[in-house]
Amino acid sequence: MRIDPHTHTTRSDGRSTPTQLMSEAAAAGLDMIGLTDHDTITGWDEGAQCVPASGVALIRGMEISAMYHGITLHMLGYLFDPQAPAIQKHIAEVRESRVGRAYEMVERLGRDFPITWEDVTRHIEPGATVGRPHIADALVEAGVVENRAEAFTQLLNPRSPYYVWHKAAEATDAIEWINDAGGRAVFAHPAAPHRNRVVPRVAFEEFAEAGLFGIEIDHRDNVKDSRPELAALARRLHLARFGSSDYHGLGKPNRLGEHTTSEAVIEALIQSCHLEVLYP
Ligand code: AMP
Ligand code: FE
Ligand code: FE
Ligand code: ZN
Repeated sequence: MRIDPHTHTTRSDGRSTPTQLMSEAAAAGLDMIGLTDHDTITGWDEGAQCVPASGVALIRGMEISAMYHGITLHMLGYLFDPQAPAIQKHIAEVRESRVGRAYEMVERLGRDFPITWEDVTRHIEPGATVGRPHIADALVEAGVVENRAEAFTQLLNPRSPYYVWHKAAEATDAIEWINDAGGRAVFAHPAAPHRNRVVPRVAFEEFAEAGLFGIEIDHRDNVKDSRPELAALARRLHLARFGSSDYHGLGKPNRLGEHTTSEAVIEALIQSCHLEVLYP
């Protein structure tokens, strides 16, 4: 079984629709994928409809924007009850805050570069979670930068004067909400320094205490030499080892299935969760 439990679609900052993602997953030889858009579950139904035709099993999930002492991080939630009030509240608040934040960033960028809010919204599917990658797409279209990666290194990173924060969950709250909703939480790409500062080791202990299920170790954004240390940490804290592509369609170089998670870990994940994996 080849399982890639972390991917994105046009419901957030990916470039493939959920339908395209499912057939791309089949073409990549995957048996199961996780559909985990940022702060939204609106891709689940379309993905689910494509399970029989694609022959690919679907884990429904979401990547939650979270914080630890001012450091932003991403918490993956899997197979939780989407009706849970705390989750619904998070989705509503963060998605709205992301719109105001993107608007403010575009206003600042517009003082120096030929880019307007309309240019950005053309790159966002209606109802999708708004993020910096959409601003990056408009900057590419305007000829300001070559690609999304360049937009991030030059203009959109947290050290840039154009950067604006958005609301995010406390990481331990996010873990609790997911667990209370019958799901499991996995700390995404914990050693990805180019994104932001990395959380200190003690954070993993607090997260484990709060009920974290696993950490994403095999991921291209984790600096390579961090992996043995993360693996040791996972063993000590009894956290499962995850690996994934974090596929964003053509929005990122990440290829489906470039990292995967073992069947044993996924078996343990799906046991007694509120939602079931959808099988072809
Ligand atoms: P935001 O959600 O607005 O904070 O933007 C973060 C998202 O931008 C992440 O989920 C990544 O998908 C994307 N991202 C971060 N760094 C890069 C990069 N260097 N190149 C392309 N996309 C990136
Ligand atoms: Fe993303
Ligand atoms: Fe992420
Ligand atoms: Zn992701």
